[in-house]
Formats: sequence, C-alpha cells, structure tokens
Amino acid sequence: MDLELNSQDLAFQQEVRAFIDSAWPAQARGRKTTPTGGYAGKRPAEEQHWFDALVARKWSVPDWPLEHGGTDWTPTQKYIWDRETAAAGCPAMSAFGVRMLAPVLYTWASDEIREQHLPSIRDGSVQWCQGYSEPGSGSDLASLQTKAVLDGDHYIVNGTKTWTSGAHIADWMFCLVRTDFNTQRRQQGISFILIDMKSPGVEVHPIYLLGEQHTVNSVSLVDVRVPVENLVGEQDKGWTYAKGLLTHERTGIAGVARSQIALRQLRDLAAATEQNGGVLAEDRSFVEKIDAVEVELMALEITELRTLATVEKGGAPGPESSILKLKGTEISQRIAELKVEALGYYSMPYPDELSLDNEGPIGPEESLPALQAMLWGRASTIFGGSTEIQKNIVAKAVLGL
Ligand SMILES: Cc1cc2nc3c(=O)[nH]c(=O)nc-3n(C[C@H](O)[C@H](O)[C@H](O)COP(=O)(O)OP(=O)(O)OC[C@H]3O[C@@H](n4cnc5c(N)ncnc54)[C@H](O)[C@@H]3O)c2cc1C
Repeated sequence: MDLELNSQDLAFQQEVRAFIDSAWPAQARGRKTTPTGGYAGKRPAEEQHWFDALVARKWSVPDWPLEHGGTDWTPTQKYIWDRETAAAGCPAMSAFGVRMLAPVLYTWASDEIREQHLPSIRDGSVQWCQGYSEPGSGSDLASLQTKAVLDGDHYIVNGTKTWTSGAHIADWMFCLVRTDFNTQRRQQGISFILIDMKSPGVEVHPIYLLGEQHTVNSVSLVDVRVPVENLVGEQDKGWTYAKGLLTHERTGIAGVARSQIALRQLRDLAAATEQNGGVLAEDRSFVEKIDAVEVELMALEITELRTLATVEKGGAPGPESSILKLKGTEISQRIAELKVEALGYYSMPYPDELSLDNEGPIGPEESLPALQAMLWGRASTIFGGSTEIQKNIVAKAVLGL
C-alpha cells in the first residue's frame, strides 16, 4: 500500500484539521490526561460539543458502510483521521456500540433491529455493554451456560454474566445465550440477543478492580423476558456473529494511533527529564528502549493498514486481528512502563490521594496518570481475549501450525 499522501489526501488532512480546530477546543487539547469519551448525559460539555459536531458532520462512525451512515473514506483517509484525532486527544465514541455491535447489526440483523438501534449508536445517545463472559466461561466462551427458553413470543433468560464493562451505565446489553443444550458441538445452539437493561430480573453488581475503580460488573439475569424480535439473525447461529464481533473488537484494541502519540509524549518527557547533569533523552540505553518500541509500532501500523484495506474492499478483519490485538497490547503496555521508568518516583499517585498528608501535587504534570495508566493497561492482556488465546489463534489460523 502506498503510504505517501497525494494532493487529495493532503487536502483531506487540512479539512480534518480545520474540523478539529472548530469542534475540539484548544484548551482541551493541551491537557495531559486522556478524555474518557464518557457516556451520554455524563460527558463534560466540551466532549458533548465534540460528539454533536461529529454527528452533524456525519463523521461519528467513519468505518461503517455509507448506506448505514458511515463514510466512503479510503483506508488512507481513515488513517489520516485516526492520526489527527489521536494527536489532538479527541474523545472516541464508546466502542461497544460503534465498533463491536454495529458491524454485527448491519451484517446480520433484521431491518427492524437496524432501524431501531443503528441511529442511536451512531449519535452516541444509547450505551451498550457486552454480555459474553460468564463465571467459568471466558477464554472457553463456547461453554457458556446462560439459558434462553422460548415461551410464546418471548425468551425467558436465566444466568450470570461477569466482567461486564460499563453494565452499570449501559442502556442495553448484547448477549450470548444458549438456546439449545443438545448439540454435537458446543459452538452450536448459541444465540445472540439484545437485552434492555431496564427489564425486570436484570441486576447489576459492581466488581472493584485493584485500583478501586468500578468499571466492570457481574450481571445476574433471573427470568428476564426478552421479546423474540430482539434475536439477532437466526436462533442457534449466534457463534458466527459473536466471532465476527470479536475480530472487530480486537482490531480496535490495537490502538496504533494512540500508541504513536504516547510514544511522542514519551520522547518529549525524556527530553525534559533531568538526569546526572543532562537529560534522560541523552541516556543511550533509555533511548534504545524507545527506539525498539517504535520499530515494533511501525510494523504494527503496516499490519493495521493491510487489515483496513481488506475491510475497505468489503471484507471483514480475519484472524489477523489477533496479531493486532496481541502486538498492540504489548506495545501500549511497554510505552506505559517506560513512562513510569522515566518519571520514577513522580509516577506515584499524590500523597494526599493516599491520605498520608495534605501536600499538593508533586513532580511534573505528566506524573498524574502514569502509574494508574500502567496498572490499568495490564488488563488489556486479558480483555478482548487473552494473550495466550491470541497466540493460539495466530498459530492455528494464521501460521497454520
Ligand atoms: C478489565 C476487563 C474488562 C472486561 N470486559 C468484558 C466485557 O465487557 N464483556 C465480557 O463479556 N467480558 C469482559 N471481560 C472478560 C474477558 O473477556 C475475560 O476475562 C477473558 O476472556 C479471559 O477469561 P477468564 O477471565 O475466564 O480467564 P480464563 O479463561 O479462565 O483464563 C485464565 C488464564 O488461562 C489462560 N488460558 C485459558 N485457556 C487457554 C488455552 N486454551 N491456552 C493457553 N492459555 C489459556 C488465559 O490466557 C489466562 O491467562 C473483561 C475482562 C477484564 C479484565
């Protein structure tokens, strides 16, 4: 693929930059912390302004097919968009609806479901969570036991989902359930349904992570009545849709543009960090560590562009998305580690956050999220399918071992 920007691409780049200038305020851009994207109704005003502008410009879901409200951008234009928005620190739409569920809906769902759900995913007004994992069914997802029994024009759903990110703020959950327990293969008899989180019998229980953050939950489903119209595609064929969704999820986790920006910030940090009468950026052993990550990141970028080009030609990301997830995760974790190494003591949380005393912030501003970001980043080894599982997929489906 030709990575040189031609005159049309350069014009598009200018158009994107002008849009960002108008829709994402300069003061938000200067911040060192990454915006969360937030959830509808809870977003800071400047993030809401950004999302409104995206929707008005019809740029909120650039990867979707044009007929569903996406763009007809070329892979190079998408690449430019990703780079420019990442460089400006623009918030991203929540991935659950936009990147994960939507491709399943526009590929396999009925027209009624598409009409009901795609518009509110596109404008970010409705939040989704992913009900795949269960206690004992994570990597071995096909062993899931949540049961949906047809009763007239409803399914009656019973079971427990776990590690459900954002369930406490989600309006809807896309969910894998077992509709047939008597199949030859466990992958058969699984269905993909949409559950309104306000349905009687849905209970969300928080799970607190190591840093005391509440982002994941356990969701119990007790005699939840789900209208049959909420079945996506065909009953018992959900495994096919679920796998399709996972390839999109893994491609999204790669985060090449985000890592490029983080790497640049790391170099800036090294240039500004005093050490032994000089600066860290003059320390050859440290710079070699950054260079090594950059080489890996460049290779990943080419792989991502190849995947984008396949999707552009009407294909879906295949098992190669496991390479993106695997390497993307390792690279972002390595950058986070190097940032902590550069900051040393200053990467620790404020003393007053630990309730030790009343001192104000200490150290350079970059220190604020460094340790937390590094610790949170460890979770990406697990979510979206663990590193070991990605290696298995690469070995079997890509390398044919
Ligand atoms: C922060 C976070 C957010 C999450 N959000 C969601 C969400 O929103 N929705 C959702 O459905 N799930 C979510 N998950 C769940 C995630 O997908 C699972 O944790 C993951 O699939 C691993 O499953 P498990 O936890 O049951 O671990 P296990 O499957 O029990 O794995 C334990 C260990 O064994 C290894 N292992 C397992 N099988 C094999 C094998 N065949 N070969 C080699 N090694 C193997 C794994 O790599 C892992 O190291 C989230 C997880 C985390 C940590």
